[in-house]
This record gives sequence, C-alpha cells and structure tokens, in this order.
Amino acid sequence: MARHIESVCKFCRREGLKLFLKGDRCYTDKCAFDRRSYAPGQHGQARGKTSAYAVQLREKQKVKRVYGIMEKQFRGNFKRAEKIKGITGENLLTLLERRLDNVVCRLGFADSRREARQLVMHNHFTVNTRNVNIPSYIVKAGEVVQLKERDRKSAKINQSLEAVERRGIPQWLELDKANYKGIIKAMPKRDDITMPVQEQLIVELYSK
Ligand code: SF4
Repeated sequence: MARHIESVCKFCRREGLKLFLKGDRCYTDKCAFDRRSYAPGQHGQARGKTSAYAVQLREKQKVKRVYGIMEKQFRGNFKRAEKIKGITGENLLTLLERRLDNVVCRLGFADSRREARQLVMHNHFTVNTRNVNIPSYIVKAGEVVQLKERDRKSAKINQSLEAVERRGIPQWLELDKANYKGIIKAMPKRDDITMPVQEQLIVELYSK
C-alpha cells in the first residue's frame, strides 16, 4: 500500500495550520508548527501570489493529509461522495470520517490516524465481531468496533485511551472503555468535523 514516508510535520507547515498528525506530541512545545509556522524549504517564508487553483489545491491536500490518504484513494472517495444524495463536499468529509482507521483514532485506541492504520492493518480489531483489517473500511451506524482480547493489556493502547479523555470523543461515537469497544451511534454530520476546511473548494477543483 502506498503511503507517505516523509516527516508529517512538514505537512502542517505547508498547509499553514496544525493538522494534529502526531498525537500527543502536537499538544506539547515540541510541535514543529508552533516553532516554525512558515512553509518548509528555501522559499518557505516568501509570499507569492495565490491563484484560485492554488487555493483549491491546498484545501484538497490539507484534507488528504489529515486523513493520511493518497490521491487515487482520495479521488475514489470523491466519486463515491458524488453518488450519495446531498452536498458532495459534505458527503466527502463524512465518508472520510467514517473510515475505520479514523474511528479507531477518534475512539482513542491510537494517538494518530497513522498509528490507528497500523493497528487496523495488523488485525487488532473486529467490527461486529468479524475481523476487519482494512483501514478504509467505512463504518455504519449501529456497528461495534472492538479491540481483540489478546491486545487489551497493551501499554501503548491503554495510554492512548487515557489521553483521549483530554481530547474528547465526537458525539456520533461512544466508547465503552471497560470492554475496549466503540459504538457507532449515528452517522457523522458535517458539524462533527471541526477542522477548518472549505470542502466546496475541493469540489470545484475536481469539477474542472
Ligand atoms: Fe503538526 Fe503535530 Fe507535527 Fe505540530 S507536532 S507540526 S501539529 S504533526
């Protein structure tokens, strides 16, 4: 599976905002964006003209980077979002939010989506008691995501579960910490996605 291998902190600096890609580190003074909030590279501090296309492109890159997915898969999600009734941009964001790796991260089993993706791929979770090791699996309302019994003593996972109490869990999810279980109470709505994004710009970019 294709994946990004460069430092993810560069993405925050490039997009000009904190994307919270490194879990708890993002909340400490080690955050690279807090220390250098300009774009990386030789011309990072230069201010150039920004075309409409560049603004649309940056918005798409931002969302791709937050969810940690590559162009082909992102475009696939966009096509799927177009086929769903409603507003395409909102459909796209809520589809991404329903990815299993995102849900595992939001529930607090992992500090970041990248870590959550690893856990899912390495077969640590079930969905409605069935093994699911596909990070892009789209959860549905009523489904139950659960950590396998053999992994419940993992110090790293337990630490992450402690930390999520500080970050909070979105309303559409419910964590049953005692049983290492997350319940999808409802489909996420646009308002549940708090990152600053203008999804309409992504729709405009792909509609060219
Ligand atoms: Fe972004 Fe987190 Fe790195 Fe800060 S620590 S630059 S928020 S990924």
